[in-house]
Amino acid sequence: MAKKWRLTERTRTLLTLELAIVLPAAALLGFSIWNLKHIQRSEAIEAAIQRDFSHVLKIAEKKTWHKANEIVGPVRKEFPNSDEDRATINAKLEHILAEHPEYSYAFVYDKDKNMMVSRLQPAKGNDPGFCASTQDAINMTLSWLPLEANMMTANVRKMAMKDEDPVGFYGWWAHKESLHSYWNITYFVPPGVPKDRTVLGAVGFDADYLRSTFFPAVMKDVLTSKSELMLTESNPPVMMIHPSKDSTPWISSANWDGAKPEAERNFEYVFPDLTMAIKYQGTTVADIGARFRKYNYIVLGALALFMAGGVLLTYRNVSREMTLARLKSDFVANVSHELRTPLALIRLYAETLELGRLTAKEKYQEYFRIIREESERLTALINNILDFSRIDAGRKEYEFQETNLAELVHATLESYRFQIQQNGFGFEENISPDIPPVNVDREAIARSLLNLVNNALKYSKDQKYIGVRLYRSNGSVNLEVRDRGIGIPSNEQEKIFEKFYRCGDPLVHNVKGSGLGLSLVRHIARAHGGDVLVESAPDKGSKFTIALPLVPPPQTGNAMA
Ligand code: ADP
Repeated sequence: MAKKWRLTERTRTLLTLELAIVLPAAALLGFSIWNLKHIQRSEAIEAAIQRDFSHVLKIAEKKTWHKANEIVGPVRKEFPNSDEDRATINAKLEHILAEHPEYSYAFVYDKDKNMMVSRLQPAKGNDPGFCASTQDAINMTLSWLPLEANMMTANVRKMAMKDEDPVGFYGWWAHKESLHSYWNITYFVPPGVPKDRTVLGAVGFDADYLRSTFFPAVMKDVLTSKSELMLTESNPPVMMIHPSKDSTPWISSANWDGAKPEAERNFEYVFPDLTMAIKYQGTTVADIGARFRKYNYIVLGALALFMAGGVLLTYRNVSREMTLARLKSDFVANVSHELRTPLALIRLYAETLELGRLTAKEKYQEYFRIIREESERLTALINNILDFSRIDAGRKEYEFQETNLAELVHATLESYRFQIQQNGFGFEENISPDIPPVNVDREAIARSLLNLVNNALKYSKDQKYIGVRLYRSNGSVNLEVRDRGIGIPSNEQEKIFEKFYRCGDPLVHNVKGSGLGLSLVRHIARAHGGDVLVESAPDKGSKFTIALPLVPPPQTGNAMA
């Protein structure tokens, strides 16, 4: 049984250790590994998102270019030539513009003839602001066109040779007072122009058209082509277009939330001076990362707390075990000492008696008494140890029988009275006459009383007094042992009932003891359905009271705590 107890205790410590340290540590390890992998993955995801977004923007530019080319294609083919007469050119340009309200102007330029014929969008002919600013744009174009026309024509012709759409694009922002407007030229060589001539046909996309029709269509096309972007239902991407030198959106897709874009692309070969930007709606990749980090810190913090708690728990458990181990080794030393002293005395006096040299009869009596007393002490000690081991193993059984407590207490004290008085103690015995018969284990109660009286003898210095009282108190019979000895500090008053515990007082350490007495007293009192209480003050004395209920419960053979 005792072995089993030790095993359980050990298993408990090990289990606590495992639960408190090993599990959190393992969890922490697992989490860190997962975390590392996850961080790597999230960095990879971030890079992939950037890459994907850049790719999407590249495709968006290509789509813009295709779309612009598609729109310009038919117009380009019916464009007038500079060799036709002015009226025809005018009529043709006007026809084109009337058919295509998406252009704000159209012109034919012949560098060799130093000739330009231009027409404005007739649909907006009533808008003087439009006419003035468009004319400004054409005039401005005319200011640099003579210098650039050769190169522009050559470029377009080179494209035709490469089987590409022979169309060039140019664009810029015009700032007039607080008004910023985007101007663009889509240029090509009109049909029927000989190779050695520098002639250009051009149209300009209307800025309103670009804003309300052209770019929204491009953006919608890009954002809904799922194959190109990791589209998620919860995080749809959003786009916008802004002037290259100003990040304020000029055109934005529905749901654009205004936060910093994830990727940007400056248009180069179509609509230059415009920049396209893209991001996820409502969040940025950096935000996602920050959220992830916050979550990780919380989990790590919780785990650290959990581990700190575990360490504390283990520390408490282990230190309790260590204290118990120390107490046990003290116990062995104390008990050996306690056994040796009476044995030595018994041997000494027995040897003296054996030699037969004593003459006085009283001496014989005294020696016999000493031998008897010492063997009684030995018996008491051994009984304590045996009782303790039985209780500890849960094998202690009590024999309850109806007992006259007053008689039992008196008889027990009587056998001790001489020793008490011989040690110079004042002794007071006070037994109430109204004590009813109580169901108790006689031997156990007598042993408890002796333990208490013995302690009073052991732990008194100059004030030598022992008082024993037996009295009735509502529903119980109280057995009280008082002394005026060294007392017990309040912080130790609960501990003295634990097995092996002995107070730190130097006197206690000079006095022999096993630290078992009070734990036995408590076990006995509780087995009777009662308890033992202490009231004590250092240097004033102590009062131990065993309270026994008048109706004790049936015995339970529980092991000692
Ligand atoms: P032991 O007397 O063998 O040491 P006990 O279990 O009887 O063991 O007592 C435990 C401790 O309680 C003692 O070591 C002592 O420090 C303290 N103690 C017990 N009784 C008294 C008392 N009457 N006065 C002062 N201290 C006491």
